[in-house]
Amino acid sequence: MFELTSAGAGSSPLVPLIDRQGRRLDYLRLAVTDRCNLRCRYCMPAEGVPDAGHDAILRTGEMVRLAGLLCGHGIGRIRITGGEPLVRKGVVGLISELAALPTEPEILLTTNGLLLSENLAALQAAGLRRINLSLDSLDPAKWERITRRRGFDRVLNAIDAVLAAGLGLKINMVVLPGINDDELAAFADLTRQHPVTVRFIEAMGFDGSGRPMRTLSGDAIIAELETRYCLEPIPRAQGAVADEFVIPGHAGRIGVIRGHHRTFCSDCTRLRIDARGYLRTCLYGQPVVDLKAMVRAEANDEQILAAIRGALARRHANGFEAAALRLDSMASIGG
Ligand code: SF4
Repeated sequence: MFELTSAGAGSSPLVPLIDRQGRRLDYLRLAVTDRCNLRCRYCMPAEGVPDAGHDAILRTGEMVRLAGLLCGHGIGRIRITGGEPLVRKGVVGLISELAALPTEPEILLTTNGLLLSENLAALQAAGLRRINLSLDSLDPAKWERITRRRGFDRVLNAIDAVLAAGLGLKINMVVLPGINDDELAAFADLTRQHPVTVRFIEAMGFDGSGRPMRTLSGDAIIAELETRYCLEPIPRAQGAVADEFVIPGHAGRIGVIRGHHRTFCSDCTRLRIDARGYLRTCLYGQPVVDLKAMVRAEANDEQILAAIRGALARRHANGFEAAALRLDSMASIGG
């Protein structure tokens, strides 16, 4: 049970969130559920992640309070993740409340697209401007093998709907050696006519099995693409995870995310709150603060901030240092 302690008065409201390495945190990945309507092989076991019950998941008001507190200290972007965020009842209302926070943070969404078409207008009205959509194959049969579910056409229709609505779109493909690495060119071709960014992600061992995962490195992905295209690099923005490229004549861009090799940790600006209310200061690390317990124990803002700052003062320099012995499933972390 959480013990209430005096957090020390006088912490000025606008002190930014700075970690042990001097990195300033400005981006919150907020997982709104650990439930999903897919069972992607690289993300969770076939049976899914154990259901801890409704009460174990942060309530909407708790999420808005925690996000609001962090936004008051420099968080400017909030990415809504999961599991699959659109399976959470009331997610549009949650996005609307987050977009209405006094600091007007930018709200982003990562989704598998299955429920996107029917929610798109409401999401846009709620303030959503950019979407990352996970798609790991352009072959319907292979997509079903990877996701262990049906619905490929709904994902393609959602892509069309997002493009028609003029929202920013990134398509994230996890490259699985021997499974979909023969589709790199087909995915890159999507950028020929469409103003999308197609991002190739190194497979990382977050399937909940504890076993290492075969990975095709970012260098190998780029080398394969360069057999077909001229890739012109774009300077990487501060805190960005992808190395991005343009292909002359293409409307969109290509990105490569070296999630396994973790080459972008030096300017990492990301904080995570998972669906069960744990603060995570690194994707590869363990949960560090039980924010849900603090909120439900009626901790005040100063006490919650003190706990978050304490965790940042202990934050690892990179994902190798932080790496837990056994990695949780991506669905329970929030990506
Ligand atoms: S691995 Fe950890 S430190 Fe590195 S970028 Fe990801 S979250 Fe940040």
